[in-house]
Amino acid sequence: MTETVESREFQAETKALLALVTHSLYTDSEIFLRELISNASDALDRLRFESLTNSEMLEGDDRFEILLEIDKEGRKVTVSDSGIGMSREEAIANLGTIAKSGTGELRELLGGKGSAAHAAELIGRFGVGFYSSFMVADRVTVRTRRAGTIGGIEWESDGGGSYSIRDYEKTQRGTSITLHLKPADPENGMPDFADRWRISSIVKKHSDYITYPILLKPETKPGEEKTQEAPLNSMKPLWKRPASEVKPEEYAEFYRHISNDMSEPLRTIHFRAEGTFEYEALLYVPSTAPLDLYYVGAERGLRLFSKRVMIMERCEDLIPPYLRFIQGVVDASDLPLNISRQRLQQDHHITRIRKRITTKVLDLLTELFENDRETYLKLWAEFGRAIKEGASDWENKDRIVPLLLYASSNDPEKLTSFKEYVSRMKPEQEQIFYLTGESRGVIENSPHLEAVRQKGYEVLYMSEPVDELVLQYLNEFESKKLKSVGKGAIELGTEDEKKEAQKELEGKQEEFKPLTEFLQKTLGESIKEVRLSARLTTSPACLVVGEHEFSPMLERALRSQGAPKTKRVLEINPNHALIQRMRERLSGNAEDAFLPDAAEVLLGLSQLAEGSELSDPVKFNRSASEVLSKAI
Ligand code: ADP
Ligand code: MG
Repeated sequence: MTETVESREFQAETKALLALVTHSLYTDSEIFLRELISNASDALDRLRFESLTNSEMLEGDDRFEILLEIDKEGRKVTVSDSGIGMSREEAIANLGTIAKSGTGELRELLGGKGSAAHAAELIGRFGVGFYSSFMVADRVTVRTRRAGTIGGIEWESDGGGSYSIRDYEKTQRGTSITLHLKPADPENGMPDFADRWRISSIVKKHSDYITYPILLKPETKPGEEKTQEAPLNSMKPLWKRPASEVKPEEYAEFYRHISNDMSEPLRTIHFRAEGTFEYEALLYVPSTAPLDLYYVGAERGLRLFSKRVMIMERCEDLIPPYLRFIQGVVDASDLPLNISRQRLQQDHHITRIRKRITTKVLDLLTELFENDRETYLKLWAEFGRAIKEGASDWENKDRIVPLLLYASSNDPEKLTSFKEYVSRMKPEQEQIFYLTGESRGVIENSPHLEAVRQKGYEVLYMSEPVDELVLQYLNEFESKKLKSVGKGAIELGTEDEKKEAQKELEGKQEEFKPLTEFLQKTLGESIKEVRLSARLTTSPACLVVGEHEFSPMLERALRSQGAPKTKRVLEINPNHALIQRMRERLSGNAEDAFLPDAAEVLLGLSQLAEGSELSDPVKFNRSASEVLSKAI
């Protein structure tokens, strides 16, 4: 039989990632061992789970363990597991490409669009997993055989551009990864990893929570008896231990194992539910958002165990979608091991666990909001957009809405809650004013804010698409109606002031009638109506949508789904010089050729101010040039 060795190129992004990893990305090179052990543990979890329904996969050997071997002279470290192993295709897919979800941004960066420093930070958040082997090894050999199959393969690479893959007869199921260590160079951050004491202490430090025994193969001198040593780790699942006995570092290590996030978690929630249905939950609020937090197809959920056996790697039903950034584990002792995903969804225990977890997380958020605003602001910056989606959870809406934060006209540097807004409302003020828009800048400079701000009312700036969703579920807060300053009619001031303003506007109505009619006639195809404005002070005109119509931002967002463009009301400012001048010219000469062009320009400027595109750029251009050339 001739041996076939196939040589393959790494995926381009993998190559770039490997280059970063091998060239001094980490000072903390010892984490390679934690990553390999973490993968071994995952592989054992998967095999144990699959063997529940297919016991043949165990091949009559139900040892689930991780074995470390050190070859001091040969400078090799080998991590073996009796887990699920990989087929040839799986090895190619899992070891040759970056296949995790949420790598889009990383790919762009590695593709050269971003700085290396930023890429390094992203990788920190993303984790390098298996590839971290190349920090300490100049050659890595993976021998693996998928449980329940025959044969096996050997995969090998020096972390350059390519790897080789060949058939390899592996008797033991699972995976064995051998690192051919780089020369030790302690002064430059490369300790000697072919050292038993060092390897043992790294395992104790980083991998103690692993629930499978991690064994270090004993040194044998010729003629000596081989004795199996005790596991290096204590093996007790972290979530089964009383919270008071778990050290913060232990929580942090376990967090890294389940999350692929290298940073410290922001907060940990660990509780046990007792009673007829018992379970433990260990939850983490990360300190940074995963890259795929807002990707629709990304995998979500908590790890679900039953009596320490993992029965689902990502159980979405344990956590509401707006808390999808929470990582963690639930171990429910009375769930049947072979429960199907579908049955699980309907299982009322799962529903109860989800409710309880939701409450626990909201308790924590509320606690931080009230007593540690600094930490809350950090959390808000990372996950605020997701938390806002919670406004649609009718059961918890009353707890979530008070946690929402917005920029406002009160203090450009500070975010404010609805409650804080209400506490600053003027005595006569009945509504909570807000404005939605594509960005803070567009909102802040919107003509819609002019009169409201001049009269000293605060306006909330809602600049994220998700805010439109919030508004669909939120009509009022503490019985104060929410009111967009960009929609419908607007009335400001005390009752007397409102009456006064109304009278003044009515007085002007007659005077400006010819102009409003002229504008209506000229722009009639693009707008619904022309009226005098109560919301402008410095701009000549603006566009307004109806009270119950989509905001311009929402309309643009829905355009791709075929939403129609609603016609706007054009409001003109009777106190503005331009509007007054147009009125005068119109009464002097109704046929004035300047006026239709001026009307077009007015419309175009109002469209731009609301963040929309020009409805007719060609016409706008022509009219603007006409007006300019006449003015000059
Ligand atoms: P992650 O663990 O986050 O998926 P890694 O880079 O650590 O990323 O590993 C990549 C993939 O390689 C794993 O998802 C798994 O499919 C596969 N893999 C790695 N190590 C093993 C192993 N010991 N046994 C089986 N599969 C493994
Ligand atoms: Mg991994």
